[in-house]
Amino acid sequence: MNKVLFSCWKGKVTDNRGKKPEEFETPEGIPEKVLNALNDESSKAVMDLDGFVIKDPDVSILDLCVDYLARTWKRSCGKCIPCRIGTRVMYDMLRDIAEGKGKKGDLETLKSLAETLKVSTKCKIGHSAPAPVIDAMSYFKDKFKEEVEGKRESGGKK
Ligand code: SF4
Repeated sequence: MNKVLFSCWKGKVTDNRGKKPEEFETPEGIPEKVLNALNDESSKAVMDLDGFVIKDPDVSILDLCVDYLARTWKRSCGKCIPCRIGTRVMYDMLRDIAEGKGKKGDLETLKSLAETLKVSTKCKIGHSAPAPVIDAMSYFKDKFKEEVEGKRESGGKK
């Protein structure tokens, strides 16, 4: 498999940023299915309920989160409102940000929504849905901020 630049999977973090390729550590605990997906040359990153793995430093963290939340909202069965509505609100907010329509305070609102979902939903999908996004926002804080500001300035065209 191509070398992994960064992974945060089930709480285990492997951070190879700033290292020479020969010094890269191999991440542990990443399931076969995810590793196989990353073997695809065109695959730059994967995000799912258990975490995320970045292979290419140029991947858009923001787009990765938007795509993940779109898929996660579709997986929400609707038995509990915080999951059904919360994942959709998170998706809408991040999609708006990616389209250059983000508002001041959005990132804080996302973090607070994530906390609500963690304690008010009935199964793993709701509990875990926000975690990869919040972790990505935290571990890639500068890149995330840079992308958000870039999208805002370009009206979402970048
Ligand atoms: S948390 Fe689970 S049970 Fe509740 S809506 Fe989401 S998927 Fe359904």
